[in-house]
Amino acid sequence: MCGIVGYIGKRDTAPLLLEGLQRLEYRGYDSAGIAIQSGGTGKGAGGLKTAKTKGRVRDLEDRIPKRFTGTAGIAHTRWATHGVPNDVNAHPHLDPLEKVAVVHNGIIDNASELRAKLSAEGVTLVSDTDTEVLAHLIARSVADSLETRVQEALRHIEGTYGIAVLHADFPERIVVARNGSPVVLGIGEHEMFVASDVAALVSHTRQVVTLDDGEMATIKAGDYRTYTTEGSRTSSSPETVEYAAESYELGDHDTYMHKEIGEQADAVDRVLAGRIDDRFATVHLGGLNLDPREARAVRRVKILGCGTSYHAGLIGAQMIEELARIPADAEPASEFRYRNPVVDPDTLYIAVSQSGETYDALAAVQELKRKGARVLGVINVVGSAIAREADGGVYVHAGPEVCVVSTKCFTNTVVAFGLLALHLGRIRDLSVKDGKRIIEGLRKLPGQIAEIMESEPEIKKLAQEYADAQSMLFIGRVRGYPVALEASLKLKEVSYIHAEAYPASELKHGPLALIEPAMPTVAIVPDDDLLEKNRAALEEIKARSGRILAVAHQEQEKADRTIIVPKNEDELDPILMGIPLQLLAYHTALALGRDIDKPRNLAKSVTVE
Ligand code: GLU
Repeated sequence: MCGIVGYIGKRDTAPLLLEGLQRLEYRGYDSAGIAIQSGGTGKGAGGLKTAKTKGRVRDLEDRIPKRFTGTAGIAHTRWATHGVPNDVNAHPHLDPLEKVAVVHNGIIDNASELRAKLSAEGVTLVSDTDTEVLAHLIARSVADSLETRVQEALRHIEGTYGIAVLHADFPERIVVARNGSPVVLGIGEHEMFVASDVAALVSHTRQVVTLDDGEMATIKAGDYRTYTTEGSRTSSSPETVEYAAESYELGDHDTYMHKEIGEQADAVDRVLAGRIDDRFATVHLGGLNLDPREARAVRRVKILGCGTSYHAGLIGAQMIEELARIPADAEPASEFRYRNPVVDPDTLYIAVSQSGETYDALAAVQELKRKGARVLGVINVVGSAIAREADGGVYVHAGPEVCVVSTKCFTNTVVAFGLLALHLGRIRDLSVKDGKRIIEGLRKLPGQIAEIMESEPEIKKLAQEYADAQSMLFIGRVRGYPVALEASLKLKEVSYIHAEAYPASELKHGPLALIEPAMPTVAIVPDDDLLEKNRAALEEIKARSGRILAVAHQEQEKADRTIIVPKNEDELDPILMGIPLQLLAYHTALALGRDIDKPRNLAKSVTVE
């Protein structure tokens, strides 16, 4: 779930691994640890040294003893699934003779059976984790090579893993394996890296190899090889990572969230770049792998995502219905996969994920593929698991998003859906005139986003006004409702203020009972054909002495405060209307002194169930 970093080469390992862990801190974690091979070559030479602790990477740094040197090592940040966060449960896990060290991301489903079996055989388990069984299983094997020992151990494992293994008797190598939890190799000059996320690698190399599920690798200082858990060789040629190390750095900002909100105008430029076709008033989406005949045959669109990606999918579904007139809806990926869904051959399924590794979304894609469906991905991370599993898709090109809470990636995902909706629309019944109108609207987005950013000082003041709220209500209607949902999620995630989103039309059916001066409402009020209806909702709230903050295209008389957003085409307005509310969530969290980039209990890409 969390972070793995490994290094083998001539340089001193511990500082490199700690730096790598720091780069993964954004993913959220509760403990950290490191194991290094302390020098010497040949069988039996050297030995493993470890340090681990509950808490932060800097706490681990304080724990590292002097002369903790070596030229191969593995390190981990843990997000506990089995056993509380404490020093003992932190990874790496070792066997009693301290020959084997394992770091693991993911969940071993049959851990309790394996623990019971090992205990019955006299093995003393020191931690409460699922991971520890791996160390014992590997240590028990007497196969000739470390690779075979790991393979033998993995045969007992049910569940998901990204692992990295060191063995004192096989000092010049690190063996890694992947099943459902990302593992990426980084290829340097006479040195090799491994990590669960390229963010930990890019300051050293941009040449990477991403392992597939069921794949393993052995890395040595001078080379690497990949093979399956069954032992057959695989061919994985390195790819170049698109973004340089600076993209992962804070620059002049205090938080990644602030940096990433501010990057949205440029990010939207990137998702549009090279895709607009003025001649036919449409867009080209190179990787879609859906020819016009197939696109015309689509009878429904079903979008699957989790959290913010699900909300982006709700807006996407709306755009597809409006522009392409194909019935479309979005559903949380986890709900979908567990309800034995009816998979329809005429439905186009679209999985949305920033990381492309979100476990529930990936599992939904696999279930769909198994049932013969056509699945597209709307993904940020190029070459990620869902991107590879899907039949085609659209990359959103938001660039690396480090803050746990998604902002620019959400916006770019919604814009990518705008492109897809236009593309599908123009293959079907959307007129050239409307195609041109939408293209014009899309082109205006970056400038309009920059305009919204100028209202930051004003939004900051508003945030200070609202920061004392115990609870907030977000309302919107049709196009505005998913905007309200996402804005309320943003506020909860980062400020911990309770927030709920409702369709404005549902007010009378329940939530109106909550309205009183201490319960502010944020209302999404676009200047479209539902404006009067939305105004009526404001009226209802005002009549119950509710405080209202409106996000609108013009001053709202009934609202206490209005944030004015530039008007785009009606269909594209939702893209812009959420952006000031990202700033509102950010400044509210700042006023409350929250840990903005790493909200409590949350992790960036949820690669476990
Ligand atoms: N399941 C393992 C544990 O609880 C690994 C968690 C993680 O992915 O960080 O220790």
